Amino acid sequence: MSSCSIKPYFRCFTRVKVTGQWVVNKENVASIDIHPDDRFIPICHKCKEKAVTIHQVVHRSVRDLNIGSSVVFLNILYRKVICTECGCVRTEYFDFILPYLRVTKRLALYIHNLCKVMTVKDVADHLGLHWGTVKEIDKKFLEEEFGETDYAGLRILAIDEISRRRHHDYLTVLLDYETGRIVWMGEGRKESTLNSFFHEMPLSVREGIKAVAMDMWDPYIASVREWCPNAMIVFDFFHIVKEFNKVIDKVRNQEYKRASEADKRVLKGTKYLLLKNSKNLKQEERPHLKQILNLNKNLSTVYILKDALKNIWSYKYRKSAGKAIDNWCQLAHESNIEPVIKFAKKIQHHREGILNHCHYAIHTSKLEGVNNTLKVIKRKAYGYRDTRYFILKAKQAFAGQ
Ligand SMILES: [Zn+2]
Repeated sequence: MSSCSIKPYFRCFTRVKVTGQWVVNKENVASIDIHPDDRFIPICHKCKEKAVTIHQVVHRSVRDLNIGSSVVFLNILYRKVICTECGCVRTEYFDFILPYLRVTKRLALYIHNLCKVMTVKDVADHLGLHWGTVKEIDKKFLEEEFGETDYAGLRILAIDEISRRRHHDYLTVLLDYETGRIVWMGEGRKESTLNSFFHEMPLSVREGIKAVAMDMWDPYIASVREWCPNAMIVFDFFHIVKEFNKVIDKVRNQEYKRASEADKRVLKGTKYLLLKNSKNLKQEERPHLKQILNLNKNLSTVYILKDALKNIWSYKYRKSAGKAIDNWCQLAHESNIEPVIKFAKKIQHHREGILNHCHYAIHTSKLEGVNNTLKVIKRKAYGYRDTRYFILKAKQAFAGQ
């Protein structure tokens, strides 16, 4: 047993006194006895009123912050009291513990802070706790901070989606475009998904929404039209290029199936080479790309169309942008490539929404950043299949400036 006093570590605990300290050095465990301080009348944890009648005295072991390399357990004696205000037996209130948690408030806060930069599993391993305990503690703090939807300052929204499994189980993500804050997330990507968000939104906020950036996705379009009477729908660069990338991939697959064995060798594994922004290509990737484009006319055409499509968003005036769309669609039709023609029809159908970027220039990098970070959070936190926790973590990561 150590003779060194560790009482100063517990000065912030009020209404109790440290009555014993046991440090088992070999096991690196410190055990601290904590008793109620008799100078204080116990307080009911529910109503915070004084309760003079003691029903029974019980014992509870609660984990606290480590001291040095020692894991600390508090053996707390506390009283169950008969609260006249509540009219029943209640547990005594202490300011340093939370009811139903087996850790002190300060350890819980430490865990929550670690979870901002580490994975749940890393925090659990670091402290020797079960990951479920760590996740629930972090979730409790997040729920307090981000549980409620905050509608303040909304003017321009951006709607995105993230899939939990590849092409399955979608979540709709709603961003305050101007601050980058995630306002809300909901399960699914139906009209009813978005309706449930707008339904809770005060009318004055809905009327103040000036623009909504989104994918060319009919259920979202219908919902925004119904609920935001003054909003301009904007089909932004990021979403449309993302969708055209799917077309490129489809064409690549078709061409691969048709290709000779020798050509298949050139085309194999080139998905990301074709989708990559040409500016980001590494020096050694360029000859391979050139080889593919020389080899296959259709792939060469879609590659050119990809750059031309991006160009539409460089026009600031509606008329010039309109011309660029028409030219692009004509080229697409002349390509005779079926998925490209289908995409061009979609572009024509949503022409107005694309032209609206001339009024609300939504910068794509921000949306792309959110999308990539959400994928990282998903990997880090979502391994545990708790959707609510994932949503709260996402809101924390994008709390806005
Ligand atoms: Zn009470």
